[in-house]
Amino acid sequence: MIRIKNVRKEYASGLVALDGVDFRIQKNEFVYLVGASGAGKSTLLRLMFRSEHPTEGEIFIDNFSLNNLKEKQVPYLRRSIGFVFQDFKLLPKRTVYENVAFALRFYNYSRSRIRRQVSQVLELVNLSSKMHHLPSQLSGGEQQRICIARAIVNNPPILLADEPTGSLDPDTSWEIMQLLSKINARQTTVIVATHNKGIVDDIRKRVVALEKGKIIRDQQLGAYDA
Ligand code: ADP
Repeated sequence: MIRIKNVRKEYASGLVALDGVDFRIQKNEFVYLVGASGAGKSTLLRLMFRSEHPTEGEIFIDNFSLNNLKEKQVPYLRRSIGFVFQDFKLLPKRTVYENVAFALRFYNYSRSRIRRQVSQVLELVNLSSKMHHLPSQLSGGEQQRICIARAIVNNPPILLADEPTGSLDPDTSWEIMQLLSKINARQTTVIVATHNKGIVDDIRKRVVALEKGKIIRDQQLGAYDA
């Protein structure tokens, strides 16, 4: 479903962030991208979201080449991909409900449809009781759950998450990963960039390990370290 074909990414600075990266991700898989800081994990996610372009190689989503995508088609691609950012990027003056509903602003949905979709997703992430709170009134784990709700409110087939547990304590990290597993079980392909060894070792999934921009390991039900 996602094909990363011989991708090289060299930034304008001359830094090579990815080199010869080649793998596939099947529909409904759950994949951890692991590796030290600077290994190229975020770059790879940004290429799939088409916020960066490969210097060489190609990325396909459902046999659809991102290289050939016209700018005006990018919003359509993004409709099929939810992205959970490292820094939450929540709107501080909007409630939980409004933050999630905001993600639907480009769709011509009726008010009742928006209300239904937002309510359903808030239930899924267990935040229904706090929908009228502001983000600042919530814990880090709850804020991350809003971000996940916002990313999946329109049921995209793919969810990308960049260090979703980066700023969370171990118990909260565990809850967030359980939530991502639950979303994966609802027919969503989930790709998580992480260097959270505890989680990767406890909740076993496919592990794609990057080192200095190259894949050094690709293992089903893998651990963080070889
Ligand atoms: P990771 O997510 O594994 O920490 P990144 O993909 O963020 O790795 O970074 C890979 C390498 O690319 C790093 O050396 C980083 O400094 C560099 N890099 C990332 N983004 C940019 C950018 N916009 N311009 C130049 N270099 C970048």
